[in-house]
Amino acid sequence: MTILDIRVVPDPILKQVSKPVPGVDDDLRRLMDDMLETMYDAPGIGLAAIQVGVAKQVIVMDLAREGEPPEPRYFVNPQILWASEDMAPYEEGCLSVPEVFDEVERAARVKVKYLDYDGQERVVEADGLFSVCLQHEMDHLKGVLFIDYLSRLKRDRAVTRVRKLVRQA
Ligand code: ZN
Repeated sequence: MTILDIRVVPDPILKQVSKPVPGVDDDLRRLMDDMLETMYDAPGIGLAAIQVGVAKQVIVMDLAREGEPPEPRYFVNPQILWASEDMAPYEEGCLSVPEVFDEVERAARVKVKYLDYDGQERVVEADGLFSVCLQHEMDHLKGVLFIDYLSRLKRDRAVTRVRKLVRQA
């Protein structure tokens, strides 16, 4: 497996809209394996393909806590079937906006249809962190970052901070 380069703001590719894939084949599984490895290495709990420069509707995730066995999850062509009217705030972060955390309000629960690692169609209902993470990652597929929900001032400050980090690295 290969650790891929994670794109960070203000890389314009992060604004790109990802395309659905025709199906799950070995090439796509290899991409998902590499994405998962890249996410674990970062470390993070979710990663969308566009964050490694691939404009395909693919997400990997692992919400297992430290000390728990890994629980990799894969979402291909995810679609929101339903979202609750009640909202919940959560302090979010993003591997493409390193070291920046801020509160975003999203639907508390969502129902999502997707293809899994084997290309099987599945439907899942998510709440809590799972719901937050799914919506955050699905936003990436639309070219939307969590900082886009913040005030312009906070967004600009976040980008400046990442630019500085990248310069220092
Ligand atoms: Zn993110």
